[in-house]
Amino acid sequence: MDRSSEEDIEVYLRYLEKNIPNLAFLSSGKALPKGSLKINLSGNQNKITPEPTRSVSLKENAMVLEDVRSMALSCQQCPLAKTRQNVVFGEGSGRSGLMFVGEGPGADEDRTGRPFVGRAGDLLTKMILAMGLKREDVYIANTVKCRPPGNRVPSPEEREACSPFLLDQIRILNPKYMVLLGQTAMQALLSRTEGISRLRGQECRLPDFPGVRVLPTYHPAYLLRNPYAKKDVWSDLKTVMNWMGLPLPE
Ligand code: SF4
Repeated sequence: MDRSSEEDIEVYLRYLEKNIPNLAFLSSGKALPKGSLKINLSGNQNKITPEPTRSVSLKENAMVLEDVRSMALSCQQCPLAKTRQNVVFGEGSGRSGLMFVGEGPGADEDRTGRPFVGRAGDLLTKMILAMGLKREDVYIANTVKCRPPGNRVPSPEEREACSPFLLDQIRILNPKYMVLLGQTAMQALLSRTEGISRLRGQECRLPDFPGVRVLPTYHPAYLLRNPYAKKDVWSDLKTVMNWMGLPLPE
């Protein structure tokens, strides 16, 4: 590495420290050891107050997000690394200020490396279109980035190991609104133990990101099995549309 490259990297690292403080991964150049995580996922970790990042341009945010994605692609922090085909980091511009968080990749997502691309993904895309948005306007991520074998629910340890990636995505993208799809995302991010039907449709706040308006609702995969619940989800999405100032259908 020549001198100018070293200086470039130094400048870049100083920029990251100044503009994106508390990045769980980038601050140390690797995943934080278990137990040092600052989000309140199990209710007893240290709290942090994220610094505002709105002054950082979209292009700069995209660079930082790409760095976090690169780290996720080689992550071996939990046993799911052994059985995955692809790490499914997340996708979308998030320019609408809206972020969706689901549970974890399924078979189609594991095969393609993209979130929500199977039947449940098609339904999520339709839900987004029904809101008057395009899929690329939002950001879509999952609680864990690698597929749990057999589509089982990720364990608390797997959620904990993967949470720095999701936290970094939230810090970098700085969404104004979040829809938590299903019980796993709801319990992980809100540190709650209730079932999804208890909190669905209620405005919530993330312990570490109190400025984000959050709404838990049913996962699209649940809707495929229980189509009668679509009306509840549509009601929830209309709540979010109202927050966002999007026109509501007659
Ligand atoms: S699920 Fe998350 S923590 Fe586990 S190996 Fe994949 S990226 Fe790493």
